[in-house]
Amino acid sequence: MNNSKRILVTGAGGFIGSHLVTYLKKRGFWVRGVDLKYPEFSKTDADEFELLDLRRWASCLQATRNVDQVYALAADMGGMGFISFHHAQILYNNSSINLNTLEAARINEVGRYLYTSSACIYPEFLQEETDVKPLAEEDAYPAMPQDAYGWEKLVSERLCTHYREDYGIETRIVRFHNMFGEKGTWQGGREKAPAAMCRKIAVAKLTNSPEIEIWGDGEQTRSFCHVNDCVDGIVRLMDSDFHEPLNLGQDRMVTINELVDIIEEIAGYKVKRKHIEGPQGVRGRNSDNTKLREVLNWEPSISLEEGLKTTYDWIEKEVRKKQLAAASA
Ligand code: NAD
Repeated sequence: MNNSKRILVTGAGGFIGSHLVTYLKKRGFWVRGVDLKYPEFSKTDADEFELLDLRRWASCLQATRNVDQVYALAADMGGMGFISFHHAQILYNNSSINLNTLEAARINEVGRYLYTSSACIYPEFLQEETDVKPLAEEDAYPAMPQDAYGWEKLVSERLCTHYREDYGIETRIVRFHNMFGEKGTWQGGREKAPAAMCRKIAVAKLTNSPEIEIWGDGEQTRSFCHVNDCVDGIVRLMDSDFHEPLNLGQDRMVTINELVDIIEEIAGYKVKRKHIEGPQGVRGRNSDNTKLREVLNWEPSISLEEGLKTTYDWIEKEVRKKQLAAASA
């Protein structure tokens, strides 16, 4: 048992936050979770869970009391369908959350603070081709993120750096590259590509429909990392002495069409693809994991096929549940 550390996870009602709470509890830590909502798909494993709006200063002071470490995951976020159309809301909400949470952590003398940034901070001009050069940490500047979501992440990264330099709080900064997995949002407009594709194929399979829609030509490229690798990686980073921004993701790049091929295989169901207009984000993106390997002596190991299998099976079950509920309503 490791009861020596008391840990706060913000965004603990969300996808990565709820997995992180479970991971930390399995390692014996005392954990407080904070969010606007409880986890949607299972009960929280946190010792304490408080419903707080972290845009508010008083909530942040309450959330960060009596803890040794903060994992700051709370954010107003979603896939391209959400972040392409809510710039002002995202910039206001996420700036308020991060300014207030970090300052409250300083006032409450928190020792370590891990901030979850994103590959969305990288300049759009480096991501205009499908066959893109993997993005290394130093590519962040000169800055030109595509969306307000990325600009806010970049400024909050700098906030963490200055708080460490000026106040001595040990900050860690991780840049996630497309996390996916079970118990992530799979419908409603905030879902990301892997969950959306799993849902579309599950719905097609269960309703015997021949076709799914894909935003754009499907040739846009990304790398995808399973959430179990994600939580393992961020705990390793928190425990390391590395305080510069660090990529965390897989470095196997696939097109959205290839992602669909893999999901079809898992589902045992082939679909016709109808390519329609829709937000696609940057044309290509991949993670350069050179520094990740050097710093942590570790890298994500769950293959895309393995991760998508458990994710697809879970989403198919969710789709079935929804259909049954609709049929009996
Ligand atoms: P998520 O949306 O599932 O979780 C974020 C949680 O923050 C939600 O539960 C939400 O209710 C909560 N939240 C929002 N506003 C809040 C507020 N005012 N007060 C308290 N809680 C609030 O997202 P996630 O995928 O779990 O992402 C976790 C973190 O990782 C976020 O900071 C996100 O920007 C970052 N990130 C995620 C990915 C990814 O692929 N999932 C990629 C890059 C960065």
